[in-house]
Amino acid sequence: MDKHKIADSIRAIPDYPKPDIIFRDVTTLIGDGEVFKAVIDILKHRYEKQNIDFIAGIEARGFVFGAALAYALGIGFVPIRKKGKLPYTTVSEKYSLEYGFDEVEMHIDAFRNKQGARVVLVDDLIATGGTAQASVRLIESIGGECVEAAFIINLKGLQGEKKLLPHTKIFSILEYEGK
Ligand code: AMP
Repeated sequence: MDKHKIADSIRAIPDYPKPDIIFRDVTTLIGDGEVFKAVIDILKHRYEKQNIDFIAGIEARGFVFGAALAYALGIGFVPIRKKGKLPYTTVSEKYSLEYGFDEVEMHIDAFRNKQGARVVLVDDLIATGGTAQASVRLIESIGGECVEAAFIINLKGLQGEKKLLPHTKIFSILEYEGK
């Protein structure tokens, strides 16, 4: 599918959730079955011959793309959630926001005790890279290897790649120059 068609399926909402942010609303992408399938197929073809053991998806939109990809590849899905949502023993990582910090968690046995599990991290969008960087640290902290971090959109102007590239590779379907 033409990348313009994928880009056109994503709704841009100016000044949400605050002034000067353009929110990239992927609910309109996943609501279009043809585009949603095309996006999952791109990711499936990229990873199907890379011996990936798990897809880890970041709450909440990373669950939608990540779980569909895991199903397409016939492998397990691991949720990375905001603090306090997972019921079993967790590992956690803090990361800074513009004001204050946030924290993501993963179940300690998420990779089912597989040593050196090969993991692809999935989220809808990379902005400053803080969320994804903390998620890569989580994966590594329980012995996984983050083979690549995959996004639908990379907001290149916010330079999230700089934070992630020392730790893992990055793949994105769409790249936007601004923020
Ligand atoms: P960051 O940690 O700065 O890379 O932010 C990434 C997370 O925030 C992802 O889970 C995105 O879904 C969300 N996010 C950040 N900026 C935007 C945006 N402009 N539009 C939609 N989601 C965003």
